[in-house]
Amino acid sequence: MISEAASSRDSQQQLRIRRFMMSVAMYFLASVPQLVSVYNGISPAWVTQVWVLVAVITNLLFYLLLRYDLNLRLRDPSMTMAQMVAAIVMVMGTQIYAGEARGAYLVVLLIISMFGCFKLNTRELLWLSLGTIVAYALTLPLIQRIEGERFNLAVEMVLWCSFSVFLPFISILGGSISALRKKLMASNAQLQVVLNQVTELATHDELTGAYNRRYLLEMLGHEKNRTDRGGAGFCVCILDLDHFKHINDNYGHPAGDEVLKTFADVVQPLLRSTDFFARYGGEEFLLFLPQTSLDMAQHCIVRIQEALAQASYPGLPEGLRVTASIGVAQYFLQESVAALIKRADKALYRAKQNGRNRMEVAPLHQPIILT
Ligand code: GH3
Ligand code: MG
Ligand code: MG
Repeated sequence: MISEAASSRDSQQQLRIRRFMMSVAMYFLASVPQLVSVYNGISPAWVTQVWVLVAVITNLLFYLLLRYDLNLRLRDPSMTMAQMVAAIVMVMGTQIYAGEARGAYLVVLLIISMFGCFKLNTRELLWLSLGTIVAYALTLPLIQRIEGERFNLAVEMVLWCSFSVFLPFISILGGSISALRKKLMASNAQLQVVLNQVTELATHDELTGAYNRRYLLEMLGHEKNRTDRGGAGFCVCILDLDHFKHINDNYGHPAGDEVLKTFADVVQPLLRSTDFFARYGGEEFLLFLPQTSLDMAQHCIVRIQEALAQASYPGLPEGLRVTASIGVAQYFLQESVAALIKRADKALYRAKQNGRNRMEVAPLHQPIILT
């Protein structure tokens, strides 16, 4: 669970860094019209120099916060609002000196507001656009002072009005995209939960939590193919609870169910993470031990029998022991899975005949040397 949370945090952080890189790319693109503007003598070179300096320092700061996970301590780790405000302030500063090319700078403000749709809601975006509109209005007297005679109030008013109309509109649009994204993320998360449940249901037995027969047979098929291509051998064991019908008859079906659950709970911790333990049907279980010799499989079964001898079961009198008879078979090359299980089943049958609570090993026709 902890590593899952950590990996989700890591992937979110990766996403934030990717988005930050997108905004850095925007700065590079924004430098093009600025340079053209300087080249053509529209705005002074020092404005672009100051802009570059401020942009580098600001983005370096954001990068360091992301790089050293310091942003995770902030209320909004994506720092969307802060990055947007910084970009808007920079555009505001440079557009003052942009002269007749001011319109080109203002387009950038519209694009900056689109970045908000990654994180901000409509209300936040509208506040931001209101702040930008007011800031732009406040720069107009400055522009007038710089441009003097060239300042055309009528043109500036048209620019300011169109900007003031369209920026909030884009904010509302961005807000809807942001809401849609959030909805999509929530339904994706729900889908993932459902998918996990479906996968669990498709592969596990509901009562005992062990794998189900279908999944185990699928895994056996894969292992058989691997072994036929030169992989290490494997074993299967069929475990059948002894006189289980008596438990049902004497203590009731629910007590029988508890025994099946407890049996699975006793066996599973004794297995390696690579082993597969499945409910084969009723009170029969199938144990699939990949990369396991017959010797190792027998040791595993002894461990299970020892643990069973210690186990106690809810709903059953204290001290009542539940035992299992077990048939073990080692896979031999080119044998079908069905034939392998049949051999294990025959061994189980012998275990029952020979008095139960014991293990019998299926004769091996064609041994595999484990490497
Ligand atoms: P043996 O030692 O020869 O295996 O005898 P047994 O009584 O264990 O075997 P038998 O096949 O006669 O009976 C198996 C019983 O398991 C019959 C069936 O009602 C019971 N059973 C099968 N599935 C479940 C289940 O999910 N829950 C419960 N409580 N009982 C089940
Ligand atoms: Mg039985
Ligand atoms: Mg049975």
